[in-house]
Amino acid sequence: MAYDPNNIFAKILRGEVPSKKVHEDEHTLAFHDINPLTPSHILVIPKGPYVSFDDFSEKASDAEIAAFTRAIGKVARDHGLAGDGYRILANIGENAHQEVPHLHVHIFGGKRLGRMLPKE
Ligand code: AMP
Repeated sequence: MAYDPNNIFAKILRGEVPSKKVHEDEHTLAFHDINPLTPSHILVIPKGPYVSFDDFSEKASDAEIAAFTRAIGKVARDHGLAGDGYRILANIGENAHQEVPHLHVHIFGGKRLGRMLPKE
């Protein structure tokens, strides 16, 4: 899928749409999800134009990949989630119901979470 520069996270990155930022570095931004599903629900995104994890892992620089990975762990620690535990999740593509076509990892925490996936 080609990257759409008008997706909502691209607008957040350009400062056209506000966000509740919790972390920013040269390559990564993290902010609260607008519709939180758990007491802590934070999204971590690379600043580069990547739609999916497969896209990111193929095209991003080592510095971008390192920054993204470190930001996820730092946000979890900074929000006190490392002790009791948390979940990271990335929806990629149609089968996973990805709504925003800019790679993002959800960090869920602050309560006991259900099992990995609901049974269908
Ligand atoms: P996904 O289904 O993994 O693509 O999830 C997209 C997520 O982005 C959802 O959890 C939305 O609540 C969240 N979201 C959409 N628009 C915004 C926004 N403007 N600020 C923060 N989170 C948003």
